[in-house]
Parts: sequence; C-alpha cells; structure tokens
Amino acid sequence: MIGADDAVSVRPGGAGRGYYAPRRTIKPPPAHQNCAYRAPVPGGGCYALPVADLANEFSWSRTRDNAFQECRRRYYYQYYGAWGGWDANADPTVRRLYVLKKLATRQMWAGRLVHEAIERCLLALRDGHGLSEASLIEDTVRQMRAEWKGSRAGVYRETPKRPSLFEHEYSVPIRDSEWQAIRDHIVRCLRNFHRLPVLTEIKRTPTERWIFIEDIGSFPFEGTRVFTAPDFGYWSPADRLQLLDWKTGGGGEGAALQLGGYALYALEVLGVDLSRVDLLEVNLREGKVTPHPWDEVSLERVREHIRLSVRSMKAYLKDPERNLAEESGFEKTEELRICRWCNFRSVCRPELAPFAPPAPVEGTPAKEEKVG
Ligand code: SF4
Repeated sequence: MIGADDAVSVRPGGAGRGYYAPRRTIKPPPAHQNCAYRAPVPGGGCYALPVADLANEFSWSRTRDNAFQECRRRYYYQYYGAWGGWDANADPTVRRLYVLKKLATRQMWAGRLVHEAIERCLLALRDGHGLSEASLIEDTVRQMRAEWKGSRAGVYRETPKRPSLFEHEYSVPIRDSEWQAIRDHIVRCLRNFHRLPVLTEIKRTPTERWIFIEDIGSFPFEGTRVFTAPDFGYWSPADRLQLLDWKTGGGGEGAALQLGGYALYALEVLGVDLSRVDLLEVNLREGKVTPHPWDEVSLERVREHIRLSVRSMKAYLKDPERNLAEESGFEKTEELRICRWCNFRSVCRPELAPFAPPAPVEGTPAKEEKVG
C-alpha cells in the first residue's frame, strides 16, 4: 500500500481511500439559483464548489508519521504549507510547495503504477471481463511512458495533479539503463502478480466475498481520523478474512506498524475479530506471500504508537483545536542526507549542491535519457 497522503475531507465527513489519493465524497448538486459558489453542471443547477468547504482537518497516517519523524519542517510543508496550492491562483509560495509536495521518486512512481494496474485488473475481474497479463503490462508500460514524457516536459508545474518525478524536477542524472530497470521492475511485479496462488484463490472466490477497500480507507480512532487500509480483502473458503498488502519494494522498518494498522482497520471498520483475520504481505518483486500473525498485545502497541504520534504532532500546532500551524515552530533536520532526497529542498535548503552527473561508463558514448 502507498500511504494516504492527502488527508483531506469534504464536509460533512467524506471518506478517504487507502492509497495514492483519497476519494472525496461530494454531495449531489443542489438546485442553487443565486449561489455564490455555483459552477455550471449539465442539465442546469450547480455544484457548490467543494473547495469552498474544504477544511484542513487533522488526521493521522503512516506517511504522515514518517514525515513527522524524519523532519518537522518537511512535515509542515507537506501538511500545512502546501495547503490550498491546488488552486492555480493560490499564493505563489503555497503553489510552489504544492507542486513540490506532489513529486514522487521513480521508485514511488513504479509502486503507484503497479498498484493502479492491479486495481484495474481486479475491477475488471469483478465485472466479469478479465484483463490478460499481456494487455495489463502493455497498458501499464504505455501509461508509464506517457507519464514520464509529461513529467520530463514539466507539465506538472502548471498542472500539479499530473504525475511528476523528483528526478526531473531536480535534474537527477539517471542513465537509460536505470529507467529501463524501473520498467523491468514494473513488468516483473505484474508478471509475478499473475502467477500468485493467492490470485488463483481470489478468482475462485465469488465476488460477493471480495472487499474493495478503496471506499473506506479511513476510520475514526479516539477522535482522530486515521488513514490506513490494506489494498484488498476477501473471505477465504475457510471463512477467514484475508487482508492483502501489495508491496513493490522492501518491507522496511515501518512494515510492522503498517500491518498493525490493517489489524486495527479489520477491527474498527470491518468489525472482524483478529482471530478470524490473516494479514498477508504480498511481495510482488519476489512473488512471495508472507503472513503476519497479530494478537491483542501487538495491536495495543500500534494503538499506543498512534496515540503518541498524534499527541506529538498536535503539540507542535499553534492552535490544535483549529489545526493551525506556524512554519517557525517546525525545525529543520540537521541530517543533510535526508534533505538530499527531500521534495522541498529547493525551497528549504537552496544551498544544497545539485546532483552530480553519473560517472561515464567506459567505452559508452553519452546519450539522452529515455524510458524503455
Ligand atoms: S530540505 Fe531538509 S530540512 Fe528542509 S524540509 Fe527537507 S528534509 Fe527538512
């Protein structure tokens, strides 16, 4: 799963989704005649523009927790400084932070493409028309090329919701072979996905027993909306709830916390006791599924982690009730190795040295970079 980052809701209480971009629940258009916020819709009436009601509500996610632990200033930029920058008329600094916030490294980008491809595949299966492995890979590689070209052309600077790569923004010199390795990695993950025994079981399972997580990616926890959700779930023939997390990279240190969050999700959102739940980490790079056992003790550890994390984040706020923050209250990290790959480095530490060109490979003429 890719952590829910844009923890945004539209009043009242819109539900977000578990990864990439939370879905927003927007009410159907009222028949406003003299509404100050009206926008035209087909067939008359108007949508009350959702931006008018957007509120930067405090929420918690593992991605947010990571940003907070790594650098307080980065956390501020990500969750407060960039707020509202989706509006092209926003203050230029806010807009700039928003553009930077949306950057993804090539590894994150690959992960998103794989997640989206798998979601497309499962949705097609649910609707009774399976996508072949070849067509899924072909479509994904096509999407990858289009996104890469758009990013290299800098389309995202005007349209920040379009995919943007950190490597392009910061002119990180990447060899052809490295871009091709990303493509190969995506293809490998999708091939492995199609060969997973768990996919065979999913296909055999009636779709009424599938649980698509994307509509309920968050839940209230002790007064805070928590964004954490597995990628997919289904009830096995043995009547056990299988919660799956697609991984395209290494598990990393946060894997336990992430899976613990899913255990909490099972309990709080699906109302299923842990004794009936299997948490499965699906490593798509290796084609391996690892079950993670959980019990009440480990779950309590996760609850405590979230509680402490929420408390620390709120302690940094100028006004916790209104979720108001002030930049000067969020210190910069002293660890420059973190700054090197930070999206906000051009704003925060412009003095950092640019990325050096790669050492030439002996006997190879220099070439223009391109994705394979
Ligand atoms: S450049 Fe460094 S100090 Fe500034 S926000 Fe990024 S990680 Fe923090």
